[in-house]
Amino acid sequence: MTTAADTQELLAGIRRWVEIESYSTDTAGVNRMADRVAEDYAACGAEIERVPGRDGWGDHLIVRAPWNAGSNAPGILILSHIDTVHPAGTLEWFPFRVEGDVAYGPGIYDMKGGAYIAMAAVADLAAQGGAPLPVTHMFVADEEVGSPTSREIIVELGRAAKYVLVTEPAREGGKIVTARKGAVRYEVTTKGRASHAGSRHQDGASAIREMAHTVLKFEGLTDYDRGITCNVGLIRGGTGTNVVPAEAWCKVDIRIPDMEALETVERFIADIAPENPEVTVEINGGLDRPPYERSEGIERLFALASEIAGEIGWDLEQLKTGGGSDGNFTAALTPTLDGLGVDGKGGHTDYEQLYVSSLEPRRRLMRGLLERLR
Ligand SMILES: [Zn+2]
Repeated sequence: MTTAADTQELLAGIRRWVEIESYSTDTAGVNRMADRVAEDYAACGAEIERVPGRDGWGDHLIVRAPWNAGSNAPGILILSHIDTVHPAGTLEWFPFRVEGDVAYGPGIYDMKGGAYIAMAAVADLAAQGGAPLPVTHMFVADEEVGSPTSREIIVELGRAAKYVLVTEPAREGGKIVTARKGAVRYEVTTKGRASHAGSRHQDGASAIREMAHTVLKFEGLTDYDRGITCNVGLIRGGTGTNVVPAEAWCKVDIRIPDMEALETVERFIADIAPENPEVTVEINGGLDRPPYERSEGIERLFALASEIAGEIGWDLEQLKTGGGSDGNFTAALTPTLDGLGVDGKGGHTDYEQLYVSSLEPRRRLMRGLLERLR
């Protein structure tokens, strides 16, 4: 049963989480957020393990539901993240606010709203005496920067689990995610030879000129039909307009639909050769997040989710997205369903928002999955 009071309680809880700023690199903020989550979760009797941050990132939390505290039996792994892309101070000009059915705030949609309703679903079940399977809920501190210090734990817990549920936001009217592209990242450096651009132009070997060729080669990888995209997103080079540049650098983000596409990309990298033999092209990087491909196990998980959504009263749809998530690390190991967070729009923007009317149905969807998965 959905009541206005339930929705208002959920919204008040989400507001408390949104009002703790937790930009990925702001370790103090991320850890304050971890404190709050641990405190809220402890209220239902859950067991909380805190993994201290390292390499300048915040603490991760591994929460075990009260009905399986002290046990590592394989069950359901819920994946959430507590960091956001919004620097400290964002709340000053982008505060939490509600207008009709829309609630705004930094990180509200991606993904404090989804993380909060998943906790609420676990608490509901704790109050009823538990669920058939053990539930572990992990809160990652560094997802928005690619999960450098959480990835290993995610893979370990994901491998041990029977199912993985990810609370990234729902898409385009409540759709959930059953496939995601993988991400491949490279840093490219070209090194040539500097010279005076006026008097000794002919003695130079321009690293920027070579980089321009290299950028165009990379951009040529984009193939919308195959679902491969390449974006050279950052570039710098040179020291002055009157100097033939000795060095240039760029950073490249490639999205791939499957592992076959990774081979295409790797062959391309192996074949890159400088146009000017006096300039070197150095490429570092590789697969960052593997593609999350729809499998039979994922189809079955989706079928159950749509059955539950149907009972709540809506038609659940699935989609494939180009964006990555922590689900990419687990999908090849264990059936993974993503996009189970709140409905809304504007992730990573200054109009980030959730739809208040989606809170209760999404909580019931999560609760239904936890109740029925065996
Ligand atoms: Zn997210």
